[in-house]
Amino acid sequence: MHSKKDTVWFATDGTLTRLARWLRLFGYNTIVIPNNLPMLLYLSSHQGRLLLTRSRRCYELAGKDAVLVPSEKLPEQIAFLKERLSIKTEPIYTRCTRCNATVFPIEKEKVRQLVPPHTYKTHKDFFFCPICRKIYWQGTHEKRARETLRRFLK
Ligand SMILES: [Zn+2]
Repeated sequence: MHSKKDTVWFATDGTLTRLARWLRLFGYNTIVIPNNLPMLLYLSSHQGRLLLTRSRRCYELAGKDAVLVPSEKLPEQIAFLKERLSIKTEPIYTRCTRCNATVFPIEKEKVRQLVPPHTYKTHKDFFFCPICRKIYWQGTHEKRARETLRRFLK
């Protein structure tokens, strides 16, 4: 886990679970460790992750590699990180938003039984998560995410 990273890795506690899903959608490796501060602090420092939290106690214990996120509102949290850390806010499907694993392309025929028929008919590129088995497809998800972001960051 000490390999060189070309981008920041994040860790959060239970106070920022929605934000964590969006960070994954932007391609950022983001773990969520709720209700276990020692584990969160250990993994953050051991894996060189930047710790994001709304908890002042957690922030103070983490020391310099932590960011205290001031707002409880998701749009403001994303805007804050964009401003503060210049994070990229482009939805890309490289990482499972549910569990943080890397997703892989999967042949269309293989998802026939796994996605709604309309989705199957109207989409070409599918991705799947080897850990939690969630299927992703480009298009609808992405369009919706972009629209939401436009509202968030206006
Ligand atoms: Zn997953």
